[in-house]
Amino acid sequence: MADYTANMKLPARVSICEVVTRDGLQNEKEVMATERKNLLIQAVVAAGVKIVEAGSFVNPKAVPQMADTEQVFANIASNSTQKDVEYRALILNKRGIERAYECGVKKAKLTLSASQSHQKANANQSHDEIFANFAAIAEFAKLNGVTLSGAISTAFGCPFEGAVPVEAIIDITKRYDEIGVGELSLSDTTGMADPALVYRNVSIMKERFPGIVWNLHFHNTRGMGLANVLAGMQAGVSRFDASLGGLGGCPFAPGASGNIATEDLVHMLDLMGIETGIDLGKLLEAAKMLQGFVGRELASAVLKAGRNSDLHERVLKLD
Ligand code: ZN
Repeated sequence: MADYTANMKLPARVSICEVVTRDGLQNEKEVMATERKNLLIQAVVAAGVKIVEAGSFVNPKAVPQMADTEQVFANIASNSTQKDVEYRALILNKRGIERAYECGVKKAKLTLSASQSHQKANANQSHDEIFANFAAIAEFAKLNGVTLSGAISTAFGCPFEGAVPVEAIIDITKRYDEIGVGELSLSDTTGMADPALVYRNVSIMKERFPGIVWNLHFHNTRGMGLANVLAGMQAGVSRFDASLGGLGGCPFAPGASGNIATEDLVHMLDLMGIETGIDLGKLLEAAKMLQGFVGRELASAVLKAGRNSDLHERVLKLD
């Protein structure tokens, strides 16, 4: 029989960046102990995760959850078994890249919002002001051997402005490109993307900027996270962020689901025959540990329902 799925235009392999100790924890009220973050990072790496966004070097008063990022990276550095993993940190300003460099961070991620009003609410800076700072950061990074990536948040919609025109994303991408940042993430910060919008915008961006390496970052706020991943893959993207347990909030939708859950994403990709290099069983163990740490049921579907393969085994036993 013909391979009908060949028409789906799927990648053979997907690379996943685990963001649980950064985006996942950022909106948690109770600050997680550094040692627990360390255990989570070790557990996801043991499961096969090769890219970890471990923390952010931002104002500790503004984001108390990230106040221990120096210590998180010190723990990573002292763990010699994790050398082939890329550990990245989020930064927003010059002080951030200096702190990251002092910790030996090799990859730092800049971020800004596609929507000016979201940007003003978050950081009270215009895009011009931000890119003036980013240019200085890029110079520092180049001199000191730190690679930069960039994120564009609210890329698929803004809680204040609604629709975000693709022209705004094109403009920001040009500016990132000008300062030499060649790996970019389109982030659906508040879960406003739908699969058609993702397919359209990603196709436009890939056509306009063929030299950029694209990542996608989806939140499952309105239940469309994995559908958006499928649309992204069909538009030719094979790099996605996800958070263990689906942790990660959205300040504009209290109580809503967070990031897409890493285990839900791996489970889906496993079923589709798309390689991730991640052991789902070990990942689920890590998610259970996280659930114990935060002390409440997490939004992850596979954590609740188990794997398809678990069910098949159960059915066989019943027979
Ligand atoms: Zn996010």
